[in-house]
Amino acid sequence: MSSLQQKDLQYIWHPCSQMKDYEDFPSIVIKRGKGPYLFDIEGKRYLDAVSSWWVNLFGHSNPRINKALRDQASRLEHVIFANFSHEPAIELAERIIKLAPPGLTKAFFADNGSSAVEVALKMSFQYHQQTGNPQKTRFAALSDAYHGETLGALSVGDIDLYSKIYKPLLLNTIKVSGPDCFRCPYGKERNTCQAECFEKLEKTLVPQHKEVCGIIIEPLIQAAAGMKIYPAIYLKKLREFCTAYHIHLIADEIAVGFGRTGTLFACEQANISPDIMCLSKGLTAGYMPLSLTLAAEEIYQAFYSDYAEEKAFLHSHSYSGNPLSCRVACESLSIFEEENVLEKNRIKSACMKELTEERSKGHPYIGEYRQLGMVGAIELVEDQKTKKPFDWKHRVGYSICRIALQKGLLLRPLGNVLYFMPPYVVGKKELEFMVQTAFAAIDEYFGGTPRR
Ligand SMILES: *Cc1c(COP(=O)(O)O)cnc(C)c1O
Repeated sequence: MSSLQQKDLQYIWHPCSQMKDYEDFPSIVIKRGKGPYLFDIEGKRYLDAVSSWWVNLFGHSNPRINKALRDQASRLEHVIFANFSHEPAIELAERIIKLAPPGLTKAFFADNGSSAVEVALKMSFQYHQQTGNPQKTRFAALSDAYHGETLGALSVGDIDLYSKIYKPLLLNTIKVSGPDCFRCPYGKERNTCQAECFEKLEKTLVPQHKEVCGIIIEPLIQAAAGMKIYPAIYLKKLREFCTAYHIHLIADEIAVGFGRTGTLFACEQANISPDIMCLSKGLTAGYMPLSLTLAAEEIYQAFYSDYAEEKAFLHSHSYSGNPLSCRVACESLSIFEEENVLEKNRIKSACMKELTEERSKGHPYIGEYRQLGMVGAIELVEDQKTKKPFDWKHRVGYSICRIALQKGLLLRPLGNVLYFMPPYVVGKKELEFMVQTAFAAIDEYFGGTPRR
């Protein structure tokens, strides 16, 4: 362990980590980044196949974004956002509203994804309180959902690993059994099904719809659950259902937004508009903390009144609408527009799919390789035929990722799922290295080349 690593262990409590693991596997101390690569203090190079926790879009230390950030820092670093505003926020709000699904007309600023979710929940609740439906006090969420780590966001999540211990503190959310395409109980295929599983949602929510203010979902990919991909038709049905029962549809596009699924926003593929939409992560191309909660005009209007009526939305964060973050987000949108990013990604996505499918086929421990746009996931199973998962205590995904790191590939597991979510600056060479190295790590873990 180097002296920096020793100090890291002495003073830092890292996120989402059992710190005891760091004693034999200390933090990798990164000195600089360039494009899709990170370099540690000893000069060792890592390909960032997870976009540094799903945030990076156009590579590390991107020259275009660096320039915008430097320029903004020399003008204005921060200003209070109540009663004050600034050009980068105004420009960003206008551009995002024009790009977002139709009907979303107002942008509320915060500084991380979980906060954007808190804002969405509070807005939805308060809307119903102020529009004559005070009995609508509960939220619904899908099984395996993930919406962040603050208490409100955890309440609408369904990943026990993160929430179990806090259950006594959490909101009384209605859990709906959602799509599970890899192990579809209806025996359907995700590309041809009619979202037969939607009946489960109806069965749960119809009898208690009068209590429900909103349902929050991750459109098309339940990311933290293991990049669980489900078809757009589920979203179409959900949109109709929510309209019929006067329930807000809250789309959490924090992970899937900004091109990850192939379109700028995942909702586009279902041709739907949510009532509220949460954005963060890729919003600033992986540079700065920032989030937006977009709301439909009707929601905004329910708060718009004389002050004494006490209808205002009084939520705030110290760093709401930070100008550096907003300026970087604007520059990122310009890159999308001027550099044909989504079109170029189609070729990269096809290449990633071909490379990974070729190696997954017939592999005894790969239950499924699934991909949508620039997100690919390898689901490891103990038994291919029965799809029996590995016992979580074996930490199969974690162990494989440690081997991959030694080989210069930054992967992170989600339980038994390994996933690729590379920055959009990867080329064919990087994709080949990524897939080859991931499979080398898998095979090394299982002991040599697996039998076919
Ligand atoms: C990461 C994530 C969040 C939480 O965002 P943070 O910035 O980490 O608080 C919420 N929802 C989804 C779908 C996410 O992937």
